[in-house]
Amino acid sequence: MLKGKVAVVTGGTRGIGYAIVKKFLENGASVVLWGSRQETVDRALERLRQDNPDWQVTGMAPDLGSYEEVARALDSVKKKYGKIDIMVNNAGISARDSLYDYNPEDFDRIMDLNVNSVFRCSKAAAAIMREHGGGVILNTSSMVSFYGQPAGSGYPASKFALNGLTKSLARELGRDHIRVNAVAPGVTRTDMMEAVPQEVIEPIVRTIPLGRLGEAEDIANAFLFLASDMASYITGAIIPVDGAAMT
Ligand code: NAD
Repeated sequence: MLKGKVAVVTGGTRGIGYAIVKKFLENGASVVLWGSRQETVDRALERLRQDNPDWQVTGMAPDLGSYEEVARALDSVKKKYGKIDIMVNNAGISARDSLYDYNPEDFDRIMDLNVNSVFRCSKAAAAIMREHGGGVILNTSSMVSFYGQPAGSGYPASKFALNGLTKSLARELGRDHIRVNAVAPGVTRTDMMEAVPQEVIEPIVRTIPLGRLGEAEDIANAFLFLASDMASYITGAIIPVDGAAMT
């Protein structure tokens, strides 16, 4: 589905991002995965190359907090592959503190990665996509971007903002043949969730109509569809992949 496409995936070293990288590789894309540290990037690359030594995958750890660094990193991808077709803005962090305990610096940190860095990556990637006739920008939102959540207000606020950025950029960039969409995962089984005790998970699962947590691959499948030409008339969409869960 992605043969000949070049993709960059932020937060690609583990969890949902790693599943997206793998799914894209399985479907013929060349992928540059980004992580916060070069050593975790290298570990992810090693795992992927063990799975299939023929996959076209490389990795980098640019500082998503710096527009100059992001632009330089994307420029190096363009120099290597001649283009960028797909930019996946997936890196994200959260905190669940109540408002009374919330450290204002944590709020800023969450907004900076979950929103501002998506703006930085989209700006630099769109300029490259426009040069070669278009592309796809995909963002990882969250189910809490529809309803909010009862604590940790910074995270849902950042994902509401991300949805706004997605819809606005879709309207702005359509004329350059750049589609912009987001996937809003529900509670998804990633490495982090493995540490959560069963007695915490079970009551959550009972509220999910499909009766199970999401798998990273469920989310990656939606990204694959949106990245592919099968979604050629879809832009500005926030697609829930959450088993109809509500927080
Ligand atoms: P994870 O913590 O397993 O992975 C996060 C990734 O982001 C890692 O690759 C990490 O290197 C990268 N990252 C973290 N801080 C970074 C920084 N400062 N600079 C650059 N990269 C950084 O997370 P996950 O659960 O796979 O979540 C991925 C995305 O999915 C996030 O945007 C998250 O908000 C969203 N999401 C997750 C769930 C879930 O249940 N897991 C649900 C809804 C939405």
